[in-house]
Amino acid sequence: MRIDLHTHSNRSDGTESPADLVRSAREAGLDVVALTDHDTVSGWASAARAGEESGVRVVPGMELSTRSPHGVSIHMLAYVFDPAAPGLRAEARRSFEARIGRGQAIVERLAADYPISWDLVQEHTQPGTTIGRPHIADALVSAGVVADRGEAFATLLHGSSPYYVPHYAPEAVTAVRLIREAGGVPVFAHPLADSRGRVVGEDVFDELVAAGLGGLEVNHRDNPPAAKEWLTDYAHAHDLIVTGSSDYHGAGKPNRLGENLTAEDQLERILDQGLSVEAVLRGVEPS
Ligand code: AMP
Ligand code: FE
Ligand code: FE
Ligand code: ZN
Repeated sequence: MRIDLHTHSNRSDGTESPADLVRSAREAGLDVVALTDHDTVSGWASAARAGEESGVRVVPGMELSTRSPHGVSIHMLAYVFDPAAPGLRAEARRSFEARIGRGQAIVERLAADYPISWDLVQEHTQPGTTIGRPHIADALVSAGVVADRGEAFATLLHGSSPYYVPHYAPEAVTAVRLIREAGGVPVFAHPLADSRGRVVGEDVFDELVAAGLGGLEVNHRDNPPAAKEWLTDYAHAHDLIVTGSSDYHGAGKPNRLGENLTAEDQLERILDQGLSVEAVLRGVEPS
């Protein structure tokens, strides 16, 4: 079984529609793919339909941007939860909406020095998409300011750039509790990806476990090799699920579908702890 539990469609900052992403998963030889767009579930219905057509099992998920008490960014994957559960739904919506004003604020700063506008960003974004820096990067590319998303993130959109503006994100422990309340399984995404910025220490891992954390995304390209060893040991010591995933963003990142995989027994643990996939998808309106 080839299982990839972390991918993004153009409902957030990936470049393929949810249905095309599932077809790409089939072509990449995957048996199971989780759709985990940032702060939205709007791709679930069409991904599930494409999964039925192409024989790929689709696991519904979401990646929430959260913060540690010291302000370190923590990405929390949530699997197989009730999207109508009010607490989680409200936090995802609040983040989704905060990202719009935050995107506009970044563009306003950039527009003082570069030929970009909010209209140009929207030209590169499907309606209803979770807006992020990648969409601003695409506008900068089309304006000829940078060559690709990577260059934009290394320079103008970096967290230390004067053009950078943060957005609202809930506390990570709150997110973990809300994901469990919604019947889902919280998995800490790329937990020691230090190339992305500051990472948290063991004390924060302990707090997340106490709050109900279900697993760690150990096998992800952004976790350095030594970190993967530490994470594996920590997961075993705390009986956490271990996942591996690509974090595919279509053409938006070099990450390829299936470049890291999750073992079948670990997927089983997620499916045992979470709600029924079929029941969750039945409750989602097609969009
Ligand atoms: P934001 O959530 O708006 O702060 O933007 C962060 C998102 O940008 C993450 O979800 C990443 O997928 C994406 N990202 C981060 N670094 C890069 C990069 N170097 N190239 C392309 N996308 C990136
Ligand atoms: Fe992303
Ligand atoms: Fe992430
Ligand atoms: Zn991701």
